[in-house]
Amino acid sequence: MMGLMQQQPLLISTLIKHAERHHGDAAVVSRRIEGDIHRYTWSEAAARARRVANALDGMELAPSERVATLAWNGYRHLELYFGVSGSGRVLHTINPRLLPEQIAWITNHAKDSVLCFDLTFLLIVQQIHAKCRSIRHYVALCDADRLPRDTGIPGLMSYEAWIDAQSDAYEWPSFDENAASSLCYTSGTTGDPKGALYSHRSTLLHAFATALPDAMSLSARDAVLPVVPMFHVNAWGLPYSAALAGCKLVFPGPALDGKSVYELIEGERVTFAAGVPTVWQMLLNHVKEKSLRFSTLARTVIGGAACPPAMIKSFREDYGVEVLHAWGMTEMSPVGTLCTLKNRQLGLPPAEQEAVRLKQGRALFGVDMKIADRDGHELPWDGKDQGNLLVKGPWVVREYFKGAGGDPLVNGWFPTGDVATIDSDGFMQITDRSKDVIKSGGEWISSIEIENIAMAHPAVAMAACIGVKHPKWDERPIVVVVKKAGATVTREELLKFFEGKTAKWQVPDDVVFVDAIPLGSTGKMLKAGLREMLNEYCLP
Ligand code: ADP
Repeated sequence: MMGLMQQQPLLISTLIKHAERHHGDAAVVSRRIEGDIHRYTWSEAAARARRVANALDGMELAPSERVATLAWNGYRHLELYFGVSGSGRVLHTINPRLLPEQIAWITNHAKDSVLCFDLTFLLIVQQIHAKCRSIRHYVALCDADRLPRDTGIPGLMSYEAWIDAQSDAYEWPSFDENAASSLCYTSGTTGDPKGALYSHRSTLLHAFATALPDAMSLSARDAVLPVVPMFHVNAWGLPYSAALAGCKLVFPGPALDGKSVYELIEGERVTFAAGVPTVWQMLLNHVKEKSLRFSTLARTVIGGAACPPAMIKSFREDYGVEVLHAWGMTEMSPVGTLCTLKNRQLGLPPAEQEAVRLKQGRALFGVDMKIADRDGHELPWDGKDQGNLLVKGPWVVREYFKGAGGDPLVNGWFPTGDVATIDSDGFMQITDRSKDVIKSGGEWISSIEIENIAMAHPAVAMAACIGVKHPKWDERPIVVVVKKAGATVTREELLKFFEGKTAKWQVPDDVVFVDAIPLGSTGKMLKAGLREMLNEYCLP
């Protein structure tokens, strides 16, 4: 016997329809690349998303054709999120921090038909357009009177002129919820980038789950600031979950420095923000330097890379801001776990609670996870055994776009490439990426643990731990450190700082001071680049 409830496919267009009808007056505020602030409402965003849909119809784009973006977080990008996917095309967000030749490679691989870009990225597009074989239309995300002339880009038009010519009357089509909605390539730190192709259904389920109280706890009373980019992993799904919950949305544009982000948080009374640790470090530095306070910010999700304990502590204790440590990846839409404490942990002494808050957290409903040893045997959830982390669920990839890299699954589970422990309460903690783990005398040393200790030293701005070949132990850890401006610390002082904070054999063998640690396209430390930088290095 079948249930007798209405059948309605889970489509991205239903989110924008809901936001318009039920939260139409909620604000969407954007810092534009010109530096000024643009503000309108969800209702206006929805009307302009419908113009985008009509404009794509006008270009005779077939369902599932790809519309690429090279754009910051802002209202026009939001309109494309809904206009492109809602009308049945696939929104392909491209990370502008990739090398131009990688971007050209990705557009060809994805067979993008349209490329919409912020003027910040004009030079990139000028460099690559001759190599982008499939792109038929180029749209600059700007007003008509700001459209640059003589760029050499064929048929370049301004976004505003393009959508101004359209009606905002449009009936969102209904189709299979399993249809592709958006596409995001992995950063390709190992081999060619591979495309994660999300569906309407996976996107909606992810939005429901991430908005729940034990996850991001989003509500219509929140003002949400996604600092995490819309050009990589859908800004952790916030454009969708904010529409679902009816939040005010605040977009930072390209201004990610501490001062700009702080001004936006205060000026727009932001209650909830999300970003990677490197960006939050800039914010914390600014707030500390100027002795500022947060008057409305209550929660911030930090993820994408391990959040240093000192950052979690400082946000909580110095500023009264709750940090939710989160873990995920492009292949997971991207959120897998979030660290919100259960009643049992809230009853623990403060030091023990703090240790829990450092973990990447519990699986969201919809995500299942397990850890396994090198032979694939499942390991116990004892908080000690570390193993390869595998996941499954309706917003985890089944295969990559165009079958790249073959079948990624192992008996239905997706191997994340991360190494983790899971404790008896189900809290997962990433100890490393499998390729970064340091193997010393048959034991594994967590590079993240070493980095966290170093980062707690007041003179350290950034720390990266890597393994260096050792004749007896195979590998030994060293820690590469960038000092805070004006701060002093010696190699010996820093090594002493490790005493009593980790097992003796895990203390790094050396400290190397550098001016900067190479960062990848998503702001994460590039360990491969660091190893290259130190290829002449010998252990003392
Ligand atoms: P890539 O950097 O390969 O493009 P993603 O941007 O999808 O991939 O990042 C996913 C990876 O980032 C995870 O597999 C994990 O190694 C790392 N990561 C994400 N969040 C965290 C976190 N909170 N702590 C530690 N590592 C994290």
